[in-house]
Amino acid sequence: MIFKNKLTFAAALDEQDPLQQFRSSFFFPVLDGKEFIYLCGNSLGLQPKSAREVMELQMNNWQNLAVEGWFEGEEPWMFYHKELKKLMAPIVGASASEVCPMNTLTVNLHLLMVSFYRPEGKRFKIVMEAGAFPSDQYAIESQLRFHGYDPLEAIIEIAPREGEYTLRTGDIEKVIADHAEDVALVLFAGVNYFTGQWFDMQAITVAGHAAGAVVGFDLAHAAGNVPLSLHDWGVDFACWCSYKYQNGGPGGISGIFVHEKHFSDTTLNRFAGWWGYKEEQRFKMEKGFVPESGADGWQISCTQVMPMALYYASLKIFEEAGFIPALRTKSETLTSYLIFIVNEVNKELGEELFRVITPEKAADRGAQVSIIANAHAKLIFEKLVENQVLGDWREPNVIRLSPVPLYNSFTDVFRTGALLLQVSREVTG
Ligand SMILES: *Cc1c(COP(=O)(O)O)cnc(C)c1O
Repeated sequence: MIFKNKLTFAAALDEQDPLQQFRSSFFFPVLDGKEFIYLCGNSLGLQPKSAREVMELQMNNWQNLAVEGWFEGEEPWMFYHKELKKLMAPIVGASASEVCPMNTLTVNLHLLMVSFYRPEGKRFKIVMEAGAFPSDQYAIESQLRFHGYDPLEAIIEIAPREGEYTLRTGDIEKVIADHAEDVALVLFAGVNYFTGQWFDMQAITVAGHAAGAVVGFDLAHAAGNVPLSLHDWGVDFACWCSYKYQNGGPGGISGIFVHEKHFSDTTLNRFAGWWGYKEEQRFKMEKGFVPESGADGWQISCTQVMPMALYYASLKIFEEAGFIPALRTKSETLTSYLIFIVNEVNKELGEELFRVITPEKAADRGAQVSIIANAHAKLIFEKLVENQVLGDWREPNVIRLSPVPLYNSFTDVFRTGALLLQVSREVTG
């Protein structure tokens, strides 16, 4: 598509957008009666207007049924997670039995490593991306120490080449293959939080398995964003949060994926709790843990009904929209347009003030565009916020803007460009 840096052009794209009605399903932050241009769905998704009503139903169940709410009323709590599983499965490309909502993301990362990081003899290393989200780094380091290893020795980080920001798939494959003797686990993000790079997850999975390793993914920035086929790719395990692209609310519930091929493996370690016990016999309260089959067997505590209600409200919108395949084309065009617009701003300024570090190829990125500002970065970001453009800031000089296909428009992107030019002129004088 030939893009134009014109409001009429952006408005025409919005006019043709089959998803345009979904924008009105969300609340945008407002100041002095004016809506923000919200480009921060990679950090916290907007509140679905339906969230309060879905939550209200469960508040009413609690009010009117109290403990009976576990088995009585509309959407009884005992089985509520099954409704979510059906809707989570298409988000990550899994069967419903392979996914389950539970806990929060880093907690699940730990729990899944308990099961799937199984060092033995020489094979104890973990291959991961350099510059992974800090929580993942801390989780992996502490797991290694827990097993008695020195993280400095046990972690193999893959970094971009000199002068580059993103990883080449061939380099990832090579490092994994080079460690075919000693790698126990390959643990990657699906989409890198800093650069917005969507890794070739299938290639990483194939390479990991060929090297004799287990392969897991943290999908915090991938789930609800890019098309995923965890089951078909043969990924061993994954987890994600619901509050970024999936609009599940601050601190919202996390989801896990465990591939079906592991369901009957009785040698897997797990930190068990009563809610992972076989559902039909759970209330016999017997000694000796027998896991429910599938991802449900990883549950520990009783289900978190209220956070699940918020996640459910949002997943229903994804379902109505046609899940990720329906969103992806628009998402690719939105980010392509944003990258075009940033380059237009550079042209207008007559200098390369901004540099996009997110992959240029749409197939290698999700909904996020990360932009280095070569000068006055923090000030430019702050002035964007003053002008009611809400993206997010990463030290030392990166502005991340995420046009989300469910609720952002091409006009949002156009207006962001106009404001970026305006504030850049202000700060560069
Ligand atoms: C957002 C994010 C987290 C956050 O973890 P919580 O446990 O939900 O606080 C972890 N890992 C990655 C890769 C993230 O992007």
